[in-house]
Amino acid sequence: MQTQSKLALCSVPVALFAAGSVLAQGQQQDFSAVQIKTHQVAGNVYYLEGQGGNVGLLVGDDGVLMIDDQFAPLSEKLLTAIRALSDKPIRMLINTHVHGDHTGGNENFGKMGIDIVAHDNVRARLARGVNNGPPSPAAALPVVTFGDRMMLHLNGDTVTIGKLPTAHTDGDSFIHFAKADVIHAGDVFRTTGYPGVDGNNGGTVKGTIETLQALVDMAGPNTKIIPGHGVVSTRDDVAAFRTNTIEAQRRITELIKQGMTVEQVVAANPTADLARKFVTSGPVPDEMATQRFLTAFYNALKGEL
Ligand SMILES: [Zn+2]
Repeated sequence: MQTQSKLALCSVPVALFAAGSVLAQGQQQDFSAVQIKTHQVAGNVYYLEGQGGNVGLLVGDDGVLMIDDQFAPLSEKLLTAIRALSDKPIRMLINTHVHGDHTGGNENFGKMGIDIVAHDNVRARLARGVNNGPPSPAAALPVVTFGDRMMLHLNGDTVTIGKLPTAHTDGDSFIHFAKADVIHAGDVFRTTGYPGVDGNNGGTVKGTIETLQALVDMAGPNTKIIPGHGVVSTRDDVAAFRTNTIEAQRRITELIKQGMTVEQVVAANPTADLARKFVTSGPVPDEMATQRFLTAFYNALKGEL
């Protein structure tokens, strides 16, 4: 693990981004101005905010456990932020799901000899190529996969990595830190956007609602929940997100049953008043984000009727 102090970033291609917006973002964005902010969540659990999904960290004498890795061009900056917290080896890197704003750094960290851990479906999708993209290089693939759940015993904490119902994708995992009383929820829950159902990667609305309930059940009154994107939240915040998701499901389903096309539903924007309820931090979703959300929900719900 001596190689960890330095990352050889020759000409790392910005590749393998998932959903349309992320694809465009990854290909066009200049990451040079991105600054990584470190937030302490509880005890020795932190998250890093940069561009892309929140990077969870458990630090301590046993080494660093890392959750998600944003975009490839940010690997070096993430590493610098991690090194400011700990000089111990990064033992493992967990992917909460397959999307490129959470797995984009996999190849860089994999080449450092860090074991990548993910649900079986995440590895399978990365291996064959996400959204018709090229297969991921071998170094970017998880070397440890699981079907239901696995436990890690590190830094005095008991860490559960568990499969969630098919919600945002078909490989969503939560990471629960028992002692620190923290859950990293991945993109099933976020405070900066609508619920994201990626039907192309196995996501469903029904599973999203089940997953949000599972997170509520798993959390205690004081549990801190790290969202895939956004700010640390509580069980009540996840419960509210679930209530609003059910309301969106109800309204869009009703319009589908009335025979409306996806274009008509987008034009009607039946969930306009929910936008600010879903997005509790950051700017309110723009027209494009709203259109993407309504289209994804429409298509998913049509298949779920
Ligand atoms: Zn995602």
